[in-house]
Amino acid sequence: MNEAPKHNGTGAKKVAVIGAGIVGVSTAVWLQRSGCEVILIDRLGPGEGTSYGNGGILASCSIVPVTVPGLLGKVPAMLLDRKSPLFLRWSYLPKLLPFLRHYLSHCKASETTRIASALNDIVGDSLEQHQALAEGTGAEKWLVPSDYLFIYGNRSNFEADSFGWGLRKANGFSWQELEGDEFKAYDPVFAEDLTFAARLSGHGRIADPGRYVKDLATSVTSNGGRYIKADVSDFRKENGTVSGVVTDQGVIDCDSAVVTAGVWSGPLAKKLGMKVPLESERGYHVELVEPNIMPRSPVMLASGKFVVTPMDGRLRVAGLVEFGGLDAPPSRRPIELLLENISKAIPNLTWKETREWMGHRPAVSDSIPVIGEAPGLKSVFMGFGHHHIGLTGGPKTGRILAGLISGDRPNSDLSAYAPARFA
Ligand SMILES: Cc1cc2nc3c(=O)[nH]c(=O)nc-3n(C[C@H](O)[C@H](O)[C@H](O)COP(=O)(O)OP(=O)(O)OC[C@H]3O[C@@H](n4cnc5c(N)ncnc54)[C@H](O)[C@@H]3O)c2cc1C
Repeated sequence: MNEAPKHNGTGAKKVAVIGAGIVGVSTAVWLQRSGCEVILIDRLGPGEGTSYGNGGILASCSIVPVTVPGLLGKVPAMLLDRKSPLFLRWSYLPKLLPFLRHYLSHCKASETTRIASALNDIVGDSLEQHQALAEGTGAEKWLVPSDYLFIYGNRSNFEADSFGWGLRKANGFSWQELEGDEFKAYDPVFAEDLTFAARLSGHGRIADPGRYVKDLATSVTSNGGRYIKADVSDFRKENGTVSGVVTDQGVIDCDSAVVTAGVWSGPLAKKLGMKVPLESERGYHVELVEPNIMPRSPVMLASGKFVVTPMDGRLRVAGLVEFGGLDAPPSRRPIELLLENISKAIPNLTWKETREWMGHRPAVSDSIPVIGEAPGLKSVFMGFGHHHIGLTGGPKTGRILAGLISGDRPNSDLSAYAPARFA
């Protein structure tokens, strides 16, 4: 699998990277650094997919999957509660059921523990990974080291989340508990009824995720890589190895290809004989332009499952989960809920303009991203399925993939992420 870079006419292995979100551009940057010739392909443009609108948090501690023990019992009430962060487009339920069956089968302590450990290896050192990725690319300016706070009404609300905090502790995270006046002294902008926060240092935020990804992509083209706007539909195969990718702009020759197409990776995986249970966990953001208040650090409002992140000239309020597939238009209620919740959390907040967005988290049923060589065709690799933590885990994923392709295989055990589990 780990052959050294091929020496063709230009002396470098030619790699087609399909999808220019955070995972694809990270892969492209590291491939280029390891001496490969890179062709970055996207049907929309770099940073125009899910990587455009996320919460911008380098959330290393976000290793607890959605599928925690006890979730199943809570779902019916959540779906009926207009203030709950979980939404379902009911017409989509029949299509969703096969995925849900797999997904919910992981709501066991043993599974959650396994998933958290696998995620920790991808996101645990995110800030350092982003710093190494962005260095010298021009994208460094968007990267801001910061704390990350989880805010609760009170200590007992925090203690009710003890399963997740126990997993974080077991994976090496520690935090400072800020209560009452201590929390107020840290950041006085939050509502009186929010009296408790867990503060984790060593995290970070991206001040404009879309522009960050675009700047990383520009650094690839400035250093001799190519960007092609095209829709990839298949692979050209010769003697069991990939020799090109088939696009609406013609076939693009390559010695190796990487599928980093986020939630849209399923059809390409299918061309390789894989059946990946991959769904969209639709999420929303509202941007409050020129706000009168900026919180000191990015925060997660634990009860509403949304984050608030200071960004360049605006505050981004992002989160919620809606199952409804890739094609349905955005729903109104999640946007209303985010606006209601942010006004409650920061009561004196005012702003000049509101922008709205809906995007698709790439959710694999076992909550572990698919990273490694594809089982169906030699020299095709995959890096997708990062759920809620793709911005956080994209750089490490890209570095691992570049290592696998260029022959510099990382020492760590990658079996948890193996694409072959869906062969
Ligand atoms: C509301 C919300 C908040 C979030 N907050 C955070 C956060 O704070 N921190 C965090 O770490 N993560 C967060 N996430 C998750 C994160 O945004 C995603 O996990 C991540 O962006 C996925 O990156 P990606 O590169 O895999 O996919 P994408 O960014 O979607 O990129 C895939 C690219 O592939 C292209 N493509 C698809 N199919 C083809 C094809 N056939 N041919 C050519 N091109 C193709 C698309 O155009 C797209 O540009 C959030 C997500 C949402 C929705």
